[in-house]
Amino acid sequence: MKIAAIEPFVFYDESRSRKFFIVKVETDDGIVGLGEVGIGHWAGAICQALEHLGELCIGADPLATERLWQRMFRASFFPADRVYTCALSAIDIALWDIKGKALNLPVYRLLGGPVRDRVVCYPHNRASSIEATVASCRETSEQGWKFARFDVPIDMTEANEDGVVFEPRESIPRAVELLTKIRDAVGEQINLCIDVHTRLDTANAVALCKALEPFNMFFIEDPLRSENPGSYQTLRQQVSVPIAAGEQWSSKWGFREVIENETINFARIDLCIAGGLTEARKITHACETHFIDIVPHNPLGPVSAAAGVALCMASTNVGVQEMPRAPGSYAQDIFPKQLHFEDGYAWPREEPGLGVDFNEAEARKIAAPLNSWPPQLQRRDGAFNNW
Ligand SMILES: [Mg+2]
Repeated sequence: MKIAAIEPFVFYDESRSRKFFIVKVETDDGIVGLGEVGIGHWAGAICQALEHLGELCIGADPLATERLWQRMFRASFFPADRVYTCALSAIDIALWDIKGKALNLPVYRLLGGPVRDRVVCYPHNRASSIEATVASCRETSEQGWKFARFDVPIDMTEANEDGVVFEPRESIPRAVELLTKIRDAVGEQINLCIDVHTRLDTANAVALCKALEPFNMFFIEDPLRSENPGSYQTLRQQVSVPIAAGEQWSSKWGFREVIENETINFARIDLCIAGGLTEARKITHACETHFIDIVPHNPLGPVSAAAGVALCMASTNVGVQEMPRAPGSYAQDIFPKQLHFEDGYAWPREEPGLGVDFNEAEARKIAAPLNSWPPQLQRRDGAFNNW
């Protein structure tokens, strides 16, 4: 069996609020595997990277996932980084899907699972005001989700031509107000997670973490930017709350320092950025030796969700799996087969591979532009701030 073709699909779902980037890998005997790309805004560059990496993959044995991973990451002499690891990740996930279909086993069983029967998930409670975020948390809790997860609030009322204004220091009392209202609405039994989204510098991150200590948070996510993993040492020395980070790191090398120094509590591996299932499994095992749990990053679609759940099914050190929307509740015309989901838990289908079906004809009907940008934030003085 040989890899015969690699094809990208960039499209919207019916809500047009989410851009999907699916990669299909085909073998010469007709088996099709699906992967997903983690940074859709860069789809133009990542399509080029897919074409380039295809030169290494077409004609190769699709079951030799480790050999192909090493080639894709290292073949240009310069190590792959985000654009290339996004492409590599999608190909690697598709190869594991192919491996499962070729060997007639679900991917989680190939990875050594199950170690659990189902995987607890958190939803997205993102809304444009404190009141709407509280209402969203109440709604998902009533639906059976055991977690609520929301962003550090942005005051959407102040903007100028370059974007919405975000003043880091002013966001701290707003976060306290949000947490007070959410706890009041959902009670003590729901696990609460807040995503700082790399919007703060170290001084304000320390102030925020200290202000949120009374709320018994499950974790505080991305309190710092990711470029200097060593800064987590500074934060760790000053705060006692559980810290989650890692969605922007693009291989095990990005995670190495925070794992070895035990400066985070939860590793936010993005399987569709950090090198697919092959690399995510290694990062997970490195975390296990330091009692760090994984919380796979998944703001994406059904293929990313299925890969994350397969990893969680086969790993002992799992905190919770990100699941922006309940599988099976969206894009069913494009993905007629998705994960099982009930009462805040997801689990895989007992079918070979990842258990996700893809209707290319439907996806082609709502093609999305390759290049795009996320929302933009800026300080009141006009300086840029991370979204
Ligand atoms: Mg995040």
